[in-house]
Amino acid sequence: MVIDPAVIAGWRAAAASIDAQSTIARLHDEIAAEVRVQRPLCVSSGRCCGFEAHGHQLYLTGLETAWTWSRLARRPSASEVDAALAAGTCPFLSGGCSVHAVRPPGCRIYFCDRDPAGWQSALAERCHHEIRSLHDRLGAPYRYAEWRSLLAAFAAAEAAS
Ligand code: SF4
Repeated sequence: MVIDPAVIAGWRAAAASIDAQSTIARLHDEIAAEVRVQRPLCVSSGRCCGFEAHGHQLYLTGLETAWTWSRLARRPSASEVDAALAAGTCPFLSGGCSVHAVRPPGCRIYFCDRDPAGWQSALAERCHHEIRSLHDRLGAPYRYAEWRSLLAAFAAAEAAS
């Protein structure tokens, strides 16, 4: 997926705003509170990050990706993201999640535990609505795409800068 580097720069600027930082921090707190209430069982311990084998996909927005990207201690290169794509995994999967503190909301919400009450989907929908509103408030173009395709675009933009 090719994304104009100017769009990526705009997402990164938006992610650095006070509004984005406070909104995303609040969402993370709300997700953590709901997880504490629901107490889902993690039965596969990180295997959901091996997307293809687990049958799971992670989609998120450009602004969410920018928020995580700007906080990575080490950013993956485009070839590292390509290697993860070929392996069917997240590039940050290394035993467990190597970027646990800055993982996106979708990673915080998803558990492979059964969800009979539908709390995960309701929470995911509410968070997504808030992130979409954040895009609108900050004038950041809304794009919703698969995690690794967004990371590849960020890596390519960084390599070209
Ligand atoms: S960022 Fe971490 S939790 Fe999210 S898919 Fe990647 S390895 Fe898994």
